[in-house]
Amino acid sequence: MKTIGLIGGMSWESSIEYYRIINEEVKRQLGGLHSAKCILYNVDFEEIERYQASGEWESAGLALAEAALSLEKAGADFIVICTNTMHKVINYIYEKITIPILHIADATVKQIQNMNLNRIGLLGTKYTMVEDFYKSRIEANGINVLIPDKDEIERINSVIYEELCVGTIKQTSKEYYKKVINNLVDRGAEGILLGCTEIGLLVKREDSVVPLFDTTVIHAIESVNKALEL
Ligand code: GLU
Repeated sequence: MKTIGLIGGMSWESSIEYYRIINEEVKRQLGGLHSAKCILYNVDFEEIERYQASGEWESAGLALAEAALSLEKAGADFIVICTNTMHKVINYIYEKITIPILHIADATVKQIQNMNLNRIGLLGTKYTMVEDFYKSRIEANGINVLIPDKDEIERINSVIYEELCVGTIKQTSKEYYKKVINNLVDRGAEGILLGCTEIGLLVKREDSVVPLFDTTVIHAIESVNKALEL
């Protein structure tokens, strides 16, 4: 079994999910007392979020690159960045390490393609929804990406940072997300990509009439498949 190097803490509310799902999946695949070989480097999200908000992406990238290098030195065989948004700075990380990174969007694309869907609604932070670094990776595979309108993007984003990342789950926010999902479906979305690792804490399968692609679950399970591959 390979050792998974997790860059977590963004937020730790979702890193716990990664840790749980990864261990559950190893147990499911191997049985007995098996658990995952993994190392978690938990960053201080307050620091990272400040870099995001002030547009200091290079500083954020260098901080994550240091974390990745520590994981490599500690024996990780590959890196899992436990957030969609911070894949924006993946190139800073690549420059610092020699081990591979399992990109969150690639694992998700595979799942969308398995279901033969061509048009997908994307929910995530404003960076993930509006900027190109994430969408283009999905669209390069022939999948059309729809994003919410301007006001919806603002509210979806503030729920992530002001509620989900600090462990607050509100029914009103859940209803709002459901409304946004329905709007995307009305515009032709055949599935909804939960492109933020905390959204699965709020939105569940039964909240959508079309399939949900939860990047936390998909990424965590794909990392186990990679860890166990021969
Ligand atoms: N965990 C989130 C994501 O998947 C948002 C927090 C962050 O900015 O990293 O994008």
